[in-house]
Amino acid sequence: MSAKKKVVVIGGGIAGIAVARNLVEKAGDLVDVTVVTKDPFYMSGPSRPLLVTGEQSYDRIVRGYEKVAEKGVKFVFGTVKSVDPAERKVSLVEAPTRAPTASELSYDYLVVAPGVVFDGSGIEGYRENWWRNTTVYEPGRVDVLKRRVWSETKGAVVVYAPKQPYRCAPAPAETAMTIYTVLKHRGVEKNFRIVHIDANDKPQPPVIADAIKARYEEAGIELVTGQEIVEIGPDYVVTSAGEKFPYTILAALEPNRAPRFVEEAGLGNRWFEVRSPQDLRHVKYDDVLAAGDVAKLPFPKNQEIAYESALFAVNNLLDDLGVGEKLSVQYAFLGWAYLGNLEGKLETESVLFGLNFNYKPPKTTKDPTPKKEYTEAKDKWEQNYLKNLFDH
Ligand SMILES: Cc1cc2nc3c(=O)[nH]c(=O)nc-3n(C[C@H](O)[C@H](O)[C@H](O)COP(=O)(O)OP(=O)(O)OC[C@H]3O[C@@H](n4cnc5c(N)ncnc54)[C@H](O)[C@@H]3O)c2cc1C
Repeated sequence: MSAKKKVVVIGGGIAGIAVARNLVEKAGDLVDVTVVTKDPFYMSGPSRPLLVTGEQSYDRIVRGYEKVAEKGVKFVFGTVKSVDPAERKVSLVEAPTRAPTASELSYDYLVVAPGVVFDGSGIEGYRENWWRNTTVYEPGRVDVLKRRVWSETKGAVVVYAPKQPYRCAPAPAETAMTIYTVLKHRGVEKNFRIVHIDANDKPQPPVIADAIKARYEEAGIELVTGQEIVEIGPDYVVTSAGEKFPYTILAALEPNRAPRFVEEAGLGNRWFEVRSPQDLRHVKYDDVLAAGDVAKLPFPKNQEIAYESALFAVNNLLDDLGVGEKLSVQYAFLGWAYLGNLEGKLETESVLFGLNFNYKPPKTTKDPTPKKEYTEAKDKWEQNYLKNLFDH
């Protein structure tokens, strides 16, 4: 029997674990799968905005890799520094606090699934003032946001969405409405001006832009579209139109891109260049594939698309391995956007939206009336993902 093919997966997130688990399940006797990832745990993204209202807690969204390892997937913890597609090698450095069990890995197939990097380096003043910024995107920064929103009594809030593509289209609007809800709950909302600056021509995703605008009107949130933040000062931001907005609380999502090693390995400029949404191989290298947010796809960057792209990547590998039976997958999703609570109750209401990319133009689904049940549905959906990928 010929030796098993060595498959290295970069990133132990939604896409990386979906690839690793499915590949071991479908072709475990043909492949040896190693996931290289930064931390010995994973933290889910979608419900992080609810950490601000206190409706979510870390213990519900953090998972370890024990069960995945039990399935036969190998793990190396460290930060991938570089990929050499010509030599088929991945190099990594320590990601404190865990020593990697290898500093270099060779592969027959590489799946690149490290998600995104938040990059504010193109914004003037970011280097000096980054610490004044918060977002719902990262543990630590979301806690700073929470403390500020729960303690400050007056001021100006600026929320910012960079140009698409960025991870999770509605998250900036979710941030604005979550902040409003807490301020209203505390009875201080009238002492705050809340401005959402969006580099896109409408709040994202476009399918629920009207629902977001309607909610903003009721909450008195100002919306500024088509302007990028080009400067962050100590207490103000400046936009590409030259407008200056003061802030006491800043929640600006930095522009997103693939980790630097992708560009340095010649795998793409801002994003990993795939052949097509269904063929996740690199345009030049047959043995290097992408999955998840890192891939340049004509779709929004979210968990469902990340997961579906991972299954397509597995099918590409199964093809190569000569496995006939493929995974059933298509690009379509249902999502929920948290739109806060206008009465200030700490019971977030959400709207429903969906896109099915099997149709041209994509078929849309939506219920623009915010409901508590949709927040509960989103929680079930997120917990199911964690259960299916990490808990058994
Ligand atoms: C605040 C927030 C809200 C969101 N809301 C929604 C939502 O409502 N609906 C929805 O569908 N999606 C939502 N998302 C998006 C969703 O979480 C992502 O689309 C999904 O996680 C993408 O999967 P991925 O595998 O590409 O990346 P990730 O799940 O981020 O996994 C990437 C993994 O790679 C690791 N890694 C990165 N770089 C390296 C490196 N150099 N070396 C080693 N390891 C590395 C990371 O540590 C991580 O474990 C949200 C995300 C956030 C943060």
